[in-house]
Amino acid sequence: MFRRIFSGILSAAVLAGGLGFNGLPAEASNKGNPVAEELSMPQEPVDNVIFMIPDGFSSGYNMIYRHYKERAPVWDRFLKGMVTTHSSDNTITDSAAAATAMATGVKTNNGTLGMDPDGNELETILQAANRNGKSTGVVVTATVTHATPAAFLSHVSTRSNQAEAARQYIDSGKVDILLGGGLHYFLPETEGGGQEERNLVEEATSDGYQVVKDRDGLLGIEEGRVLGLFADGAMAPEFHRGETDEPSLREMTSAAIELLSRDEDGFFLMVEGSQIDRAGHGNDAAWAMGDTEAFEEAVMEVLEFAEKDDNTLVVMAGDHDTGGFSLGCCGSRVTDVSLLQNVTATGAYMEDKLNSDRSNVREVVKMYTPITLTDSEAARIREADMPAEEITRIVSERSGIGWTSTNHTGVMVPVFAYGPGSEQLKGLIDNTDLPEFIAKAYGITLGNEKNK
Ligand SMILES: [Zn+2]
Repeated sequence: MFRRIFSGILSAAVLAGGLGFNGLPAEASNKGNPVAEELSMPQEPVDNVIFMIPDGFSSGYNMIYRHYKERAPVWDRFLKGMVTTHSSDNTITDSAAAATAMATGVKTNNGTLGMDPDGNELETILQAANRNGKSTGVVVTATVTHATPAAFLSHVSTRSNQAEAARQYIDSGKVDILLGGGLHYFLPETEGGGQEERNLVEEATSDGYQVVKDRDGLLGIEEGRVLGLFADGAMAPEFHRGETDEPSLREMTSAAIELLSRDEDGFFLMVEGSQIDRAGHGNDAAWAMGDTEAFEEAVMEVLEFAEKDDNTLVVMAGDHDTGGFSLGCCGSRVTDVSLLQNVTATGAYMEDKLNSDRSNVREVVKMYTPITLTDSEAARIREADMPAEEITRIVSERSGIGWTSTNHTGVMVPVFAYGPGSEQLKGLIDNTDLPEFIAKAYGITLGNEKNK
C-alpha cells in the first residue's frame, strides 16, 4: 500500500519537499475573506467530498511533523491558504463551535453543536449531502458523539450531552457509516451505558445497521450501513492501539470509502484525527506526532482513492490550534525534533508505569524515550502534582519545542485541498467558508445564513 501510493501523485510532494505556498492577500481582514461567495465552480459538480479534519492541527504541528518525518507531509503540496477560527462569542474557539462553523457555515457560541447562537437548528453539509441522495460517513478516533462529529450530525445546545447526540443520530438515520469510540453513549444505564432508557445499539441493528465492535468485525463487512463502536470512550492513542483490538484510522477510512463509494449518487465523508487535539491538551509532543502520522496514513488512503476516482474533492483543515505548539522554546534556537521519533508512549501511559514512590522514574522514562534523566529532571517528576505533564514537559524541553497553553489558541490554521475545483480555494478564508465551498463543489445549496 505505502509503496504503491508513493508511485502516484504523492511522490512529487515528498521528493520535492516544497511548500507550494500561495501567499495570503494583503487586504484580507481578520474576520475572514468570504471566498465562497466569490467562487465560481465552472467544472461539473463533484460526486464525492472527503473532509479531513486533524483536530487541533496548526502550522506549528505541520512544521514539527516535517522535521519529525524528515520529509514534507503528503498534504503540503496541496496547501491553499489559511483559515481564521474564532467563534461567535470568543476569539478562541472550542471544538463544538469550530466544527459547527465547518459543518454549517455559521459561527456559533463555544459549546454549541449544529445550532446558531439563538438556538436555531442549522443544516449541516452532511445532512445536505444526505438530502441530495448521497451516502454519508463519519470516521473519528474520539467518541463518535464528541464535538467534531456531533456538529456534523446533530443539534445539541451543550456539547457534553453526548447521549442526546447519539439519540439524534439513530432517530435521524442520516449517517450510513459511523466509526469511532463511544459505545457507552449508545447503551442503557442497565448495561452500564449513558442512555436512561433506550438501547441504541439494538435500535441501530433493527434499523439495518451492522454493529461492529472490533477491527476484525469491521474488516469483515462487505456492504451496507455500519455502526462501528470500538471503545467505550475515546479510542486509544496510536502509540497504544496495538494493545487493543481497535482498527487504525487508516483502516476505518479505507472501509468507509470502500462502502460509501458504491453509491452512484456519490458520498460525503468526514474523517477526524481526534487524538491530535487530546495530545495537544496534554502538551504531549510525541503523542501529537504519533497521531499526526496515523492521520497522514488516512490521508494517503484518501488521496489514492481521489486520484483514481477523479471525481472526488478532498479538503483538509484543522479546526483550531491546540496548545500553541511551536518549534523553538525558551529563548533558544537549538531543537532536536528527531528525539521524538524514539518516544513510544504517551505521558499518561508512562505515569501509569511509575510505582507508588516513583523511585523507578529513570527506568520508566528510559524504557519509552531516549532520555537519560538528570538528577533535577528525575526530582521534578517525583515531586510533580501531575507526573505525566512533567514527563511530557521534559520531552518538549529536550526537543526544543514550546507550548503556550493547555487549551486551544486563536492562531490561523492551514487549509489544503485536492481534486476538481480545489484550485478555487485560496488565500485567507474563514472556517465558515469551508462548507459553503464544499456545497458549491457538489452543486448543492446549504441554506444557512452566514454571520461572521
Ligand atoms: Zn480540544
